[in-house]
Amino acid sequence: MANITTDELLAGIRTAVEERADLYIRLADDIWEFAELGFAESRSSRAQMDVLAAEGFKITTGIGGLPTAFLAERGSGKPVIGLLGEFDALAGMSQVAGSDKEEALQPGQPGHGCGHNLLGTGSALAAVAAAEMLLQMGIAGTIRYYACPAEEGGGGKAFMARAGTFDDLDAAFSWHPGTKSSAHMNRTSAFTQIRVVFRGRASHAALTPHLGRSALDAAELMNIGCNYLREHMQDGERIHYAYRDAGGTAANVVQARIELAYIVRSQTIEAVRALTARVERIASGAAIMTDTEFEFSIESGMSPYQPNRVLTQMMHEQFVAVGAPDFDDSDLATAAAFVGLEHEQNRSLDSEIAPLSDRIGNSLGSTDVGDVSVITPVAQIWVASFARNTAFHSWQLVSQGKLPAAHKGMLQAAKVMAIAAIRAIQDPDLLEQARKEHRLSFAGATYDCPIPADVLPPLPKR
Ligand SMILES: [Zn+2]
Repeated sequence: MANITTDELLAGIRTAVEERADLYIRLADDIWEFAELGFAESRSSRAQMDVLAAEGFKITTGIGGLPTAFLAERGSGKPVIGLLGEFDALAGMSQVAGSDKEEALQPGQPGHGCGHNLLGTGSALAAVAAAEMLLQMGIAGTIRYYACPAEEGGGGKAFMARAGTFDDLDAAFSWHPGTKSSAHMNRTSAFTQIRVVFRGRASHAALTPHLGRSALDAAELMNIGCNYLREHMQDGERIHYAYRDAGGTAANVVQARIELAYIVRSQTIEAVRALTARVERIASGAAIMTDTEFEFSIESGMSPYQPNRVLTQMMHEQFVAVGAPDFDDSDLATAAAFVGLEHEQNRSLDSEIAPLSDRIGNSLGSTDVGDVSVITPVAQIWVASFARNTAFHSWQLVSQGKLPAAHKGMLQAAKVMAIAAIRAIQDPDLLEQARKEHRLSFAGATYDCPIPADVLPPLPKR
């Protein structure tokens, strides 16, 4: 059966995915309910692991020192193809499923605002279908599913990459649920997340202000300094900040401790390091001005994503063969209510696959799939799973995470990824071309992890 036709492969993968659909839809829904934050996805990780172990996958846990990361492997020998999955939720995004009004399910609790309940589950299902087909076909090759924690700012894949877990891959595929269906042909930004702490001295703000040293003043001056820095950065660079601890609510106290989170983005790892150093000098200046102490520590980082054209083109062709998700009138009516598209209900969900862009574009966002793309050729697709115009990281997206349209997007993504994985295994010329392109893109440079070697993942305290 080694020389299987395209139609036979498509039919085989369709069957392998469809006959498991109910189980994996339940898994995605369970992960939506668990809604666990990055590095703390213990129930989500366990649920995926159990399903994959039952499918005959060999499981390796704790990759890169991350308790919720695991690797599930089936098949044998080369090539080795990785399918990347995620399952982390976002803080404070709890929302009632299926409701077209903003209403928290559990106020203040996390919610799946980026569809990662679908992302990881769809990739796991792709791995299962691809491995089963591979064994039926009797050809050599290994399929791996990577359960990757903390995509949302945590850089889970960068920690895993630093540990070398992607080093022996021949290629990797991923997907992301979205509002459109298309191949991912954009480069993304390098990313660094920094923890900044200012420490001063508390004092009565009226009686003994001269004894106080304000950490809040330091934080404000640092933010002002960085806002002035913006004029003198390169185009496409980004700085964002948030108060993690604003020091307290009493205005008659000189605030003694403040914690900020900073994110710095640029086109390359070198540029992001240079900009981060400038931000650190501003923090130092703010501390000098206010006679306070400061701590500046990198928490996580991500490399720019480099799409592999050869692999992306091949994956796009499989997407066209499989087709966009098949939404029905009920899906369209439900989706329309979320985004006020009732007047053009038949367009509320995207049912077309966008033509493949002939050039690589730029996106100013970041993803830790970037770290995998530096190590091995990677291709990804976006698959329509939510109403058109739905914002990522919004209650509307959380709410749509368990709808039939979301499930349809996930099943379609699983089929495309499974077929792409088999095609990569069957076609040594294609893999060689992809590798050649990868070598040219990186000009022989080896992986330079954006997270310093001594930085440990910020695991939840037990
Ligand atoms: Zn995401």
